[in-house]
Amino acid sequence: MNDQSRIITSPRGTKLHTKGWVQEAALRMLMNNLDPEVAEKPDELIVYGGLGKAARNWQAYEQIVRELKTLESDETLLIQSGKPVAVFRTHEHAPRVVMANSNLVPAWANWNTFHELDQKGLMMYGQMTAGSWIYIGTQGIVQGTYETFAECGRQQFQGSLKGTITVTAGLGGMGGAQPLAVTMNGGVVVCIEVDETRIKKRVQTGYCQSWVTTLDEAISLAHQAKKDKKAQSIGLLGNAADILPEMAKRGFIPDIITDQTSAHDPLHGYIPAGYTLRQAENLRIQHPEIYITKAKQSMATHVHAILAMQEQGAVAFDYGNNLRQVAADEGVKNAFSYPGFVPAYIRPQFCEGRGPFRWVALSGDVEDIRKIDEKLLARFSDNESLCTWIHLAHEQIHFQGLPARICWLGYGERALAGRLINEMVATGEVSAPIVIGRDHLDAGSVASPNRETEAMQDGSDAVADWPLLNALINTAAGASWVSIHHGGGVGMGYSMHAGMVVVADGTTQAAERLERVLTSDPGMGIVRHADAGYEKAIQSAHEKKLNIPFLKG
Ligand code: NAD
Repeated sequence: MNDQSRIITSPRGTKLHTKGWVQEAALRMLMNNLDPEVAEKPDELIVYGGLGKAARNWQAYEQIVRELKTLESDETLLIQSGKPVAVFRTHEHAPRVVMANSNLVPAWANWNTFHELDQKGLMMYGQMTAGSWIYIGTQGIVQGTYETFAECGRQQFQGSLKGTITVTAGLGGMGGAQPLAVTMNGGVVVCIEVDETRIKKRVQTGYCQSWVTTLDEAISLAHQAKKDKKAQSIGLLGNAADILPEMAKRGFIPDIITDQTSAHDPLHGYIPAGYTLRQAENLRIQHPEIYITKAKQSMATHVHAILAMQEQGAVAFDYGNNLRQVAADEGVKNAFSYPGFVPAYIRPQFCEGRGPFRWVALSGDVEDIRKIDEKLLARFSDNESLCTWIHLAHEQIHFQGLPARICWLGYGERALAGRLINEMVATGEVSAPIVIGRDHLDAGSVASPNRETEAMQDGSDAVADWPLLNALINTAAGASWVSIHHGGGVGMGYSMHAGMVVVADGTTQAAERLERVLTSDPGMGIVRHADAGYEKAIQSAHEKKLNIPFLKG
């Protein structure tokens, strides 16, 4: 069944459609992932990130919904690449759902094998939070993007992005956070996007302020805003592989250059230069091999232009889409001459177990999120960056689907936030249970040598035991659902990662589960980085009194 006309939205309110709040949370979050306000292509079950899906096909979706509705509170549903495959009796503290998405045996872990299996209906690409039902729309990445640009401003531009121009591409589910993140940091940004509907979506949802169709207009607006030291975001309709070389040719060199097209997937994520969307779609269907060749060649051109801009003074960084790897495979020898965003700006946060923590109001009531914002502002009043972030988010972020909040928290802070939220549910301060989760792009849940684990100081970039241990300990600790994925962010063969979600339903049992999971999960971030020898992580481990055998000598 491929029901193009159906519109899925999560139920709101306190009426249960299942046999318990944990099952209800899984049901609502699956549906929320496919809400047209949230998902990029809901009619194809695609949530974000190229092909990142919430269920393998519509039949599997229906079966998952049916099973969640009848699942007992001592049973566990197993999902294999977006298809429900079994229900086993476990126990009340066990996860209600465990998932394995897009995993391939390493020697077969490439896009060709994946596409063959996908076409046979045997696989699904789960990206990160798409297949693990904790995507919250573009907000999910906006704080990480904000923190990245803020750190770039601190390191390279006297503290902020004021009076600077950033050029980037890709205004999709995650890339759409870039214009808002740059303007929140006071800068000017030109975002090149080939699909007009994506630009319009970002403008409508308040992520991007304006958009234009010609390079001349974009350059003139950007220059003026830079001169006035005004924060401004400008969407530019076009193909990055056409426009960036043209910018370089004209001598328009931005202060910062990066990219968030879905380069991790050469067949579905990147539009080759010179093709309209329609032409690209036809080529993809009729001649996928030619499509892939052309997309990869365009990516090489794209990287050449980034390198040319870097040589002329732009600060260049890779934004986690594996663009450099494709260019290197295409023969661009110095493709890795600019760093990834994690080693450049984010790793110190991972050393403290900090990362993209998030919560979602199952009631659908924005007041619940506002009340939690207030509670955290009061409780964490001495944490300046957290308070600045919550105020910014409150003013500038539009909700998509169920109201949610992203907030980077670290070890200790997450368990405390979980406790506070669960108490608010118990006392009725918020009107229904709250789902708590995170991105897979987190401190201790991912192995991805071109992204989260790029340039680890002990050379352990490709060690993939860590995300597996992360999933195992979160399962043992009683997360509500746990997932193990492959290929997210950077594509097949390049990453392994794990997700977790835990529900605050106000019960004592939830309080216990939250305490355990929200301690072990960020704890893995500290352990992983302490093992790699990062002084900051070792210090965090000592300060927080983590029990780490290898630090005892
Ligand atoms: P998406 O598929 O929703 O959006 C990609 C966008 O790129 C689309 O709008 C598409 O039209 C546009 N595009 C494709 N080719 C183009 C071209 N040649 N020129 C201009 N625009 C083009 O993906 P997403 O969720 O926004 O993620 C984008 C990439 O960023 C992915 O590779 C993802 O893995 C990566 N990512 C990075 C982070 C991070 O924090 N660094 C987080 C999440 C995702």
